[in-house]
Amino acid sequence: MMTQIKGLAGSAGCVVGQVVVIHAAKLELSSRTITDADAEIASLKSARTRYNDSLGQLVQQARTDGREESCAIFEAYQEIAQDDSFFGQIEDLIREEMICAACAIERKRAETEAVFLSVDDPYLQARAQDINNVCKEVTCEMQGICMDDPFAGVNGDRLVVFAEDLTPADTVRLDRSRLAGMVTERGGVTSHTVILAKTLGIPAIVGTGPMLDTITAGQTVLVDGDQGMAIVCPDKEQEEAFSKRMAAADRQKAVFDGCRGARAVTRDGVPVQVNINSGDREGMDAFEPQYCDGIGLFRTEFLYMGQSDYPTEDFQFEVYKEMAEKNQGRELIIRTLDIGGDKQLDYMDLPQESNPFLGYRAIRLCLDRTDVFKTQLRAILRATVFGQVKIMFPMIVNLEELLRAKELLRDAMKELDDRGEAYNQDVKVGIMIETPGAVLLSDILAQHVDFFSIGSNDLIQYTTATDRMNERVQYLYDSCNISFLRSIKLVCEHAHAHGVYVGICGETASEPRLIPLWCAMGVDELSVAPALVGRTKYIVGQISAAEVQEDMHTILKQGSISAARSCLDEILGRIEL
Ligand code: PEP
Ligand code: MG
Repeated sequence: MMTQIKGLAGSAGCVVGQVVVIHAAKLELSSRTITDADAEIASLKSARTRYNDSLGQLVQQARTDGREESCAIFEAYQEIAQDDSFFGQIEDLIREEMICAACAIERKRAETEAVFLSVDDPYLQARAQDINNVCKEVTCEMQGICMDDPFAGVNGDRLVVFAEDLTPADTVRLDRSRLAGMVTERGGVTSHTVILAKTLGIPAIVGTGPMLDTITAGQTVLVDGDQGMAIVCPDKEQEEAFSKRMAAADRQKAVFDGCRGARAVTRDGVPVQVNINSGDREGMDAFEPQYCDGIGLFRTEFLYMGQSDYPTEDFQFEVYKEMAEKNQGRELIIRTLDIGGDKQLDYMDLPQESNPFLGYRAIRLCLDRTDVFKTQLRAILRATVFGQVKIMFPMIVNLEELLRAKELLRDAMKELDDRGEAYNQDVKVGIMIETPGAVLLSDILAQHVDFFSIGSNDLIQYTTATDRMNERVQYLYDSCNISFLRSIKLVCEHAHAHGVYVGICGETASEPRLIPLWCAMGVDELSVAPALVGRTKYIVGQISAAEVQEDMHTILKQGSISAARSCLDEILGRIEL
């Protein structure tokens, strides 16, 4: 019988394959009292050592195969497995409560997971998943449960794995030449399953909720990673329609891929720089400079998260330098710390606020905690000698904030002068335009910066007074909101009147129906997710900015959002997308 499974669109692509079910190892986690704590701890220690050794082998293997992203994941696992403080607390539990190691690991795991998940941050949620995986695998090791090759004895060369969850180690044990897709009950769109699937170029659907009981190994499945949907046991019609879509998607992807390395220029000769956004370790590792014009937004928050204390200047410097060098002379826009709002840091001891997005965040916090801010500024400045590094301040709402931030930048420069450290004295400085305050003042702000980058994620939120995290009011959070579109036009006009370069680094930079409008408004740069560079460049290349300018006037005069959206869709329709 046909079964439809819905989840989150983790990794794009469509495939027809055969179901392989991986059932989670049945771990014995129930509380068991013990009589010899030393023996239990010794057995935990030796399981950790064996697990570490096996991770070491996986690191070696991944390195030999040139799979740097897998390497980084196994190294992250090793770090957790070698964390004596984490496992020391587990040993304390065993000794104090005389409970078995599996139960102590489970308790500590659940406690840590709860802390990480209480913060609404995808990065920390992914880290919680890493800790879960390590705990599970160390327990497997202790209980002598070995993970068999799930493809052993299975025929077929396009196998789609269905599982509750997959650890990266699970995925490495799979024969990649036959692995065609992954569908998991758990996990978010930033989970390692997804990152690996993207790297392997296969579709993945995650977070489906319970579904393993509804499927059987060997069934045929259609996996649509773009829509986050799988159809098990499809009927003939569904299979045919799917095959047609797959062929069309393949053709389109080949066209988009072909555009990645070239400069994006509209049909009437307007160049648009297409940069990428980066903001985590995986993104850094997977960075392919030849497929973008630069990095338009380097979110630095990840350096501060998942840590027990502030990152040092040297630590930050090494990361910025690595990225500047990898970028091979292309621009690298480093955004200073944008914490607060939905992103919290335990060690910062931030106050509870009733309106965090209107509260103590981003540049406000940095102008208050000047020690933290200047540490970061010195680290960025030192990296300016290794590439085309630029500095960008987030969340500016008035001129005073910008001038104070620049004053602190000068202080940081003086401190480096005193230490005799090198940096580029002419480093370019820009701001994010992501508040209506900054939009309306952009003519004045433009006189004090080298570039603007429009943070449309926040600008839509503040323009429409709609909390971007609140599901109940998402219907108002609309990228075709006319006030928002008018804001971008105004910013472009003000920027260009003062010779200031203007980009967009929020998600709307890569929204197909908006790209023609951005070109018509004269946006100089679009900073998008790495996977969307090809599509963005393709759309830019298909349109004429002058032609869309005529439509733009009609669009911006619309009172209704749906009318504006229809006009935008019509433009997109003309390029058959
Ligand atoms: C934005 O607000 O558009 C942006 C790019 O910043 P963030 O999503 O990190 O707030
Ligand atoms: Mg923002």
